[in-house]
Amino acid sequence: MRPATSTLEPREMTGNTLDIKANLETVQGRLDQALGRAGRNPGACKVVAVTKRQTEAKIEAALAAGARCFGENRIQEARERWPRLKERFPDLELHLIGGLQTNKIKEAVALFDVIETVDRTKLARALAREMEDSGRKPRLFIQVNIGAEPQKGGVSPAALAGLISACRNELCLEIEGLMCLPPLDQDPAPHFSAMAQLAKTHGISKLSMGMSGDYEIAAAMGADYVRIGTAIFGPRMKP
Ligand SMILES: *Cc1c(COP(=O)(O)O)cnc(C)c1O
Repeated sequence: MRPATSTLEPREMTGNTLDIKANLETVQGRLDQALGRAGRNPGACKVVAVTKRQTEAKIEAALAAGARCFGENRIQEARERWPRLKERFPDLELHLIGGLQTNKIKEAVALFDVIETVDRTKLARALAREMEDSGRKPRLFIQVNIGAEPQKGGVSPAALAGLISACRNELCLEIEGLMCLPPLDQDPAPHFSAMAQLAKTHGISKLSMGMSGDYEIAAAMGADYVRIGTAIFGPRMKP
């Protein structure tokens, strides 16, 4: 079972966009405290504000509050809002945190600054080709299916070494980080710790792990990015 971190009560449950600034501050405060308790520097872990299925008004509120690092899980939704916003805010950093199909690679490379969901050699090869063709070089993370769940994206821990080696040696792709979504019904801590170990084993410097319910634990266990949706923006719209 998940530890009871759900004392977290996002204030924007009213849907009031005015609360988003406060939610961002609350999350940042808790994150910095968790980092401090773990002997890490405040600022050692960045918040990726996850805007999937959130309203434009809420995104505007986050931008007005100074947020510049955002995550989306679907190309289709991202393309409807971010190209415009990127023109207004040239310092935006946009992360793709959902599965990527090879037919969407051109668009993904054009739009995203970080692609967190590299999980197979075929995809890595297509990314390498598109990065070469377009001259755009988004930073790349490999998604690891850390709980080895059959329905979930990500490379299995057992196949990770092979994928890293193909990226580095065959495709000359630098892998900056590892990303995971631990099984929902389990204590995330052992999974975060396994991720930290994998990153160390493979000489990979960054970890993207932790969401609204467990980001303090993730930060204590070495996360460099936490991906936070509902604790900032409230409940998502229906798909
Ligand atoms: C939606 C999503 C998140 C954010 O989840 P919350 O529980 O709303 O914070 C984080 N990571 C990924 C990959 C997601 O799809």
